[in-house]
Amino acid sequence: MSIKNFLADLFLATCCTVFSQPVSGQINSIMPVRGFCISAPQRNGLDEFVKFIDEELAPRNVNTLILRIDYNYQYESHPELCDSGALTKKDVKKLVEVCKKNKIRIIPQVNLLGHQSWAGRIGNLLNAYPEFDETPEVKMPQKYEWPNADGLYCKSYCPLHPEVHNVVFAVVDEICDVFEADAFHAGMDEVFYIGEKQCPRCSGIDKAELFAGEVRTIRDHLALSKRQLWIWGDRLIDGKTTGIGEWEGSYNSTHRAVDMIPKDVMICDWHYERPDQTPVYFAMKGLSVVTCPWRMPENAVKQAQDMVKFREYSTPEMKERFMGMVQTVWSGTRQFLDVYYGRRTETDENTPVKCFRALFDEMNRLADN
Ligand SMILES: [Zn+2]
Repeated sequence: MSIKNFLADLFLATCCTVFSQPVSGQINSIMPVRGFCISAPQRNGLDEFVKFIDEELAPRNVNTLILRIDYNYQYESHPELCDSGALTKKDVKKLVEVCKKNKIRIIPQVNLLGHQSWAGRIGNLLNAYPEFDETPEVKMPQKYEWPNADGLYCKSYCPLHPEVHNVVFAVVDEICDVFEADAFHAGMDEVFYIGEKQCPRCSGIDKAELFAGEVRTIRDHLALSKRQLWIWGDRLIDGKTTGIGEWEGSYNSTHRAVDMIPKDVMICDWHYERPDQTPVYFAMKGLSVVTCPWRMPENAVKQAQDMVKFREYSTPEMKERFMGMVQTVWSGTRQFLDVYYGRRTETDENTPVKCFRALFDEMNRLADN
């Protein structure tokens, strides 16, 4: 073979290699983040979840896995916070390996600031450190009901308590290290208790400044180890003016924090009932954003199409902020996989399993077109 023919063959071989994998290149350019968010499995469900990542998430081109850990890990820095039967380091490494193999970025989540209780149960952090409670005067009810006189949805920690970050940052660092993560999800959604007048530290301080201050504190800590902060976006949306409401939006004036937080924080903009156009709002504020559906396939498909459209019709500056989609699942891993693998049937047309399938079918279809 002459050198010329050799080079021609090499050129063809290179082209064929490129063209034989059109989907991955195309899908990365139309939808850089293709995420899946779920709670970390219990130990007895770990192997099935690893198989699910390998056989179901990876072939659908999922490239980001947000795993809600909270205290389902045997933290060496703070064993007093761990759930009983929590995941071990060896368990976590199984997740790390299967994700590495499939080029999936794992982003661990521990809820910071809000979600420090659930229904009538106090969370592990405030259980071990009751002094961090923003509203110690609010007692956990025997039987939880919403609405209630205390306005108790979830407890928050006090972001100005002098000791709180020593504890939570040790946990954050440890979970990021064990997952070998370059990003961390701090939750920070649905913070109803913030800057309460009974709190000796927060009373009288602007709630937007308190929220933004906590975002910045966490972001700056992560930046020391070159990790990016991801948060839910609801506290940054004016719930009243937009009509988006007090769950997907804020009714307690934290939304002005959108102009105070660092621009490198990734916003996970969740909307489950309508395909709200809020990604544009975040992108215009200079923030990168992913749209997060939950259980309505029809909305998820529209949201994916919108994301592609936002990127297509934007200036180069804006385009790069429309990062993609993240399917959220709020049941446990076991419940999700029971339905996914057909061990349990759900007749409702709106379920996380159906939404997940529809969303990823649509994203792969959009990439193929
Ligand atoms: Zn406080």
